[in-house]
Amino acid sequence: MTTTSNITDTSMTASVDRTIRLIGAGQTTGSTCSPDLVKAPWELDGGTPGYGPGSSMGDVLPTGAPRQGELPARYRAASARELDARIRAAKATLGDRVVVLGHFYQRDEVVQYADFVGDSFQLAQAARSKSDAEAIVFCGVHFMAETADLLSAPGQAVILPNLAAGCSMADMADIDSVTECWEQLEELYGTEPDADGRVPVIPVTYMNSSAALKGFCGEHGGIVCTSSNAASVLEWAFERGQRVLFFPDQHLGRNTAKAMGVPLEQMPMWNPRKPLGGNTPEGLDDARVILWHGFCSVHKRFTVDQIEQARIDHPGVRVIVHPECPMPVVDAADEYGSTDYITKAIAAAPAGSSFAIGTEINLVQRLAAQYPQHTIFCLDPVVCPCSTMYRIHPGYLAWVLEALVGGDALDAGADRPSEVLNRVTVGADVAEPARLALERMLAAKPRSEPVGVPPATVDGV
Ligand code: SF4
Repeated sequence: MTTTSNITDTSMTASVDRTIRLIGAGQTTGSTCSPDLVKAPWELDGGTPGYGPGSSMGDVLPTGAPRQGELPARYRAASARELDARIRAAKATLGDRVVVLGHFYQRDEVVQYADFVGDSFQLAQAARSKSDAEAIVFCGVHFMAETADLLSAPGQAVILPNLAAGCSMADMADIDSVTECWEQLEELYGTEPDADGRVPVIPVTYMNSSAALKGFCGEHGGIVCTSSNAASVLEWAFERGQRVLFFPDQHLGRNTAKAMGVPLEQMPMWNPRKPLGGNTPEGLDDARVILWHGFCSVHKRFTVDQIEQARIDHPGVRVIVHPECPMPVVDAADEYGSTDYITKAIAAAPAGSSFAIGTEINLVQRLAAQYPQHTIFCLDPVVCPCSTMYRIHPGYLAWVLEALVGGDALDAGADRPSEVLNRVTVGADVAEPARLALERMLAAKPRSEPVGVPPATVDGV
């Protein structure tokens, strides 16, 4: 696995927040997908439940999704400069007692405080490497904090600064509807292995799913995958099963299986709101990969038209998209791969290269700032960040860090007992099988050859 990077310098000039504010104030050209992006996330905490402005604003928030209580007034009223001082003072006081993790898609204004930056699994691994830290502050989304809790040492507290930072894709598959689907598939296919010892169905869940679904896979002979190792994991599953139930992201499942040679006709979709997922028993007869009806609203925004326009505007541009993008977009791109693949491809390119990238805007703009020798831009001309990452703001980070300090980091007289706020824990009944599914993933051998070149993808965790 590629290790996460220690961040020492992050350009603030190119931050997405700043771009959004400049657009909102009419001081630069461009457009955003929502005027509410200029609002502070705490303005949404007590309001109508939803993912907030950004790419997932139209997605349905499940009933019972975690809500965030009111952020104390002193953090809401603090200026960016004051929050910066509070966060730095709290981190200095806490030292090795705390590790702050920042996801690639997190805003720069938060990422600048991260000890590690990476994708969800890299960050969970980073948390594991800091087993002496009492607390892991995960500046990402809910399923990532759960995964960190699964992989962290007993007694370590994983903290999500804003509990409303969920993930609309992860929320599209819940344990009840997956269990119901499983029961219908058992009724259809039976439970007996074939002559080669392969069971009828192997469940495969993307890392972007709840711990409950990882636990489901652990209990039912299944496995977890990331966007980096999906092909190796599918190969592992096909060795053990006649077919795969892949959730929650249909696009990662389809793009990966197609590159491995599975025909589209053998990849039916499962819509959990319809009997038999909207299929007939005959239609499921030949299924090799049953795709859950889930998607990422960030990556769904990318289109073939955008790729064509990028090629017109930037002749010779290298188009790289994430495998959560719809299949026509992946097919039209020059390459596809995980965030790790994208960052490595840019780092390895000769100076003067030109990249059109199909992934979340915070990562794209950060890469553009980090590699000024290249031309790097987001395929989507509309600034539309991940709504859920957006729910984390320096105000929440200052709040949870100062609670750990046990007082006001800027006021030595304001003593309070040290407190762990917004802790995310996974119950032991779920944690044990979920870890089993993760261990299977780690043990799955990488494929000997990368699939889909071109488009290309990378292998390995
Ligand atoms: S980018 Fe998509 S999959 Fe990732 S956290 Fe945001 S909504 Fe979820």
